[in-house]
Amino acid sequence: MDKGTHGRKDRLIKEERHDSYRQKEKLPEPSRCGDCGVLYANGRWTWAEPPEKSHLTTCPACRRIADHYPAGTIKLGGFFYDQHRDEIWNLIHNTEKQEKQERPLERIMDFTDADGQTEVRTTGVHLARRIGEALSRSYHGEFSFQYGDGDKSIRVQWHRE
Ligand SMILES: [Zn+2]
Repeated sequence: MDKGTHGRKDRLIKEERHDSYRQKEKLPEPSRCGDCGVLYANGRWTWAEPPEKSHLTTCPACRRIADHYPAGTIKLGGFFYDQHRDEIWNLIHNTEKQEKQERPLERIMDFTDADGQTEVRTTGVHLARRIGEALSRSYHGEFSFQYGDGDKSIRVQWHRE
């Protein structure tokens, strides 16, 4: 296989993978996620109590978590961050809690700490941006973000020395 063909194939695979997190196929309604309990009814995901008879599925957020495939990443760092971690993480968790109420598929997946930098991964682009905005509003510092793949992924950076 020549290199050109190979590159295109890789790209196709990547695109298919992205699309698999968008609910393209019609889900039967109501459906509930067997992992987190979120309910799909009337064309949207909510935290409403699932009716007794609902189909079982795995929601896109839980699929991303299982695949370790985030939509958003947030890089946090700097001396100020190190000194105020607890406070900053309270804000991050509160932001997630609020956001998750309205947009059940927007969640924090996990985070890693390495070389004095923390990377937080989220299942949705909106939450990652909201966390960056909340940090910037409360603590100033340096905040920036870039969308990738159209609007399907986002990289957020927040930093304060
Ligand atoms: Zn789920």
